[in-house]
Amino acid sequence: LMHLTRKLIEIRSMLLSIDQSDALKLPSIVVIGSQSSGKSSVLEAIVGHEFLPKGNNMVTRRPIELTLIHTPGIAEEYGEFPALGLGKITDFSNIQKTLTDLNLAVPASEAVSNDPIDLRIYSPRVPDLTLIDLPGYIQISSMDQPETLKEKIAGLCERYIREPNIVLAVCAADVDLANSPALRASRKVDPLGLRTIGVITKMDLVPPEAGAEILRGNRYPLHLGYVGVVCKPPGKKPRNESTALVIRQAEAEFFGSHREQFGSKSNVMTGTDTLRRRLMEVLESSMASSLHGITNAVQLELEEAQYQFKVQYNDRRITAESYVAETMDALKARFREFTGQFRKAHIRAKLKAMLDEKVLNVLEQLYWSDKRTPELSAIAADPKVKPESIEPYWRYKLEAASSLLTKSGVGRDATLLVADGLRALIDSIAAGEPFTYHPRAAERLIQFSHMLLRDRIGITADQVENCIKPYKYEVEVEPREWELGRTQAMELFENEMQMCEEKLKEIKKRVGGSRRLTGLMTYVKGVEEKESEKRRKRLSGVEEEGEVQDLNGDDYRYPPGQVLDARHAILCSDRLSILKLRLAALKSKRCKSGPESDVFCPEIFLNAIADKLAYTSSMFISIELLDHFFYQFPREIDSRLLYDLDRREIIEFARENPAVRRHLDLQERKDKLEEVMKQLNSLATLRPDVQPTPRRS
Ligand code: GDP
Repeated sequence: LMHLTRKLIEIRSMLLSIDQSDALKLPSIVVIGSQSSGKSSVLEAIVGHEFLPKGNNMVTRRPIELTLIHTPGIAEEYGEFPALGLGKITDFSNIQKTLTDLNLAVPASEAVSNDPIDLRIYSPRVPDLTLIDLPGYIQISSMDQPETLKEKIAGLCERYIREPNIVLAVCAADVDLANSPALRASRKVDPLGLRTIGVITKMDLVPPEAGAEILRGNRYPLHLGYVGVVCKPPGKKPRNESTALVIRQAEAEFFGSHREQFGSKSNVMTGTDTLRRRLMEVLESSMASSLHGITNAVQLELEEAQYQFKVQYNDRRITAESYVAETMDALKARFREFTGQFRKAHIRAKLKAMLDEKVLNVLEQLYWSDKRTPELSAIAADPKVKPESIEPYWRYKLEAASSLLTKSGVGRDATLLVADGLRALIDSIAAGEPFTYHPRAAERLIQFSHMLLRDRIGITADQVENCIKPYKYEVEVEPREWELGRTQAMELFENEMQMCEEKLKEIKKRVGGSRRLTGLMTYVKGVEEKESEKRRKRLSGVEEEGEVQDLNGDDYRYPPGQVLDARHAILCSDRLSILKLRLAALKSKRCKSGPESDVFCPEIFLNAIADKLAYTSSMFISIELLDHFFYQFPREIDSRLLYDLDRREIIEFARENPAVRRHLDLQERKDKLEEVMKQLNSLATLRPDVQPTPRRS
């Protein structure tokens, strides 16, 4: 017989973890009573330990789901809070402290919370019982217990004393039952008193005859009857192991000394032991009669869960672990797919484009802005001029240009360019699905990959710089390289010219046609010439009286925006004419003739150097940065994202993804319902008389 309650208590906890709705609830005993009615003392007498929070202030702010598990043969009694993972607590004063902390953690503004505390106690001395301790009813409103709190507590109690629960109404013998809030509340939900047990505490405080009269229950009849107890703690004496014993002895003494009123012939129930037995009987029979209904309800829920699982997921099972592993694999695959963008040829092309920019800058700085550059074209056109006989000016210029290019920090710039590309790639992966659901993992992914890169950048930049060092002193260009450089230089020039032409067109459109632009340009040029004339004179000290006015932008006849446009147009057209001139040179016989013409055709020479720099840099960046990163990255994913997670974090991670969370929830619900159903069916073998015969649909 014991087995049935025990099993059903287990099933009840499982059901509670599936669903908090009333449909799937097995009965429990709910303890209600007004403050100071002796509610805590009764519960502690049943458990045989002092473990409930004490204090002047109301300390029970959350319901306590107390599950007692009769465990014969264990060395030490202990309690457990399954939700907290604190393990076995053998010191009951620690349980008391934990309960106090949990209660006090409810913010004062809320005062009471609906969220129950799950406490289990394992002992050879407790019966199999589930009891729910609720905040005590408040009788007197005072300043710190306002009316709304009273209502809140009443609301909470009402939810718990609904069917199928059994109500344990605790009343003090020295208070008129008519005033007992516990009985009043129970009568509201159980008017016939079919599932209410009365407990009359403090029997020692009223004359035995009056006490016995209360227990007979003639005034407020209860089907399950009243039990009288005395749970008076023994004065201020420090409590210890034997306290429970002392209390029980005192109780036995009290009832024993009034045999006439409370003896076996009196037909009233007294004593904590009687109360326990009564509670066990009542709970067992109540559970047994709930069995049929609950089996039906579970069957229905299970069928629904199975159906949904089939329809939504085609019975596909997942685990948090498998989701995490798949996510990491997908991440690695995604990354591998992208690494195609980082093959040597790609890198080389990217670096070459960067170096082309540098070449153009060098050319602009040293040749295009030099008024003598047109001379160079003229000299080159003269077949009589040999490279050895050219003015040293042009030789120095070429050397300066080549060293400007090779010493422009190619190592660092090239490395950063590639590293930035990798960083952008990782960032875009981290910003996409499924990492949108896993912001912390995304953050970590970004962090460690940036760190990996940071660690390599310095080394790689130095290595590249080291390997291009020879080019800083001497560059030898083969005829094949020369020809390639020439084609590339022409392309570069054509692009540049196209850009200038487009810019001019744009300006023309903005200022209103080519005639207007020509007018504007002529005007601006004129003013500028005058200005520079002035400056020259001022510098040479030839100042003309009365003409010391300053010709600033404000003095133009045109709006400043148009003046600016004209200036840009002048720059563009100057740039265009020099580019045209040089493009012609690149196409000339001289430039075609080969590397010995380098001094006449600096563009080709610089291009050939840029090509060599790009080639060398890409090679070393591949070895020092990319190979390293590609090797390390998947391993870091494993060690920093995957293996770093413990079981709880893995579940947390998987549940961050709403689709996965729904899948796991339904799967778990189905599994639990299946387990409960199995347990319910197995009860049939324990108690053939309460055979669960679920309705099949
Ligand atoms: P609760 O507020 O309902 O939990 O009541 P407690 O269990 O804390 O008891 C309130 C007061 O009544 C305490 O001072 C107890 O010592 C006292 N008390 C509890 N049970 C008895 C009893 O059977 N006899 C006597 N005389 N006092 C009791």
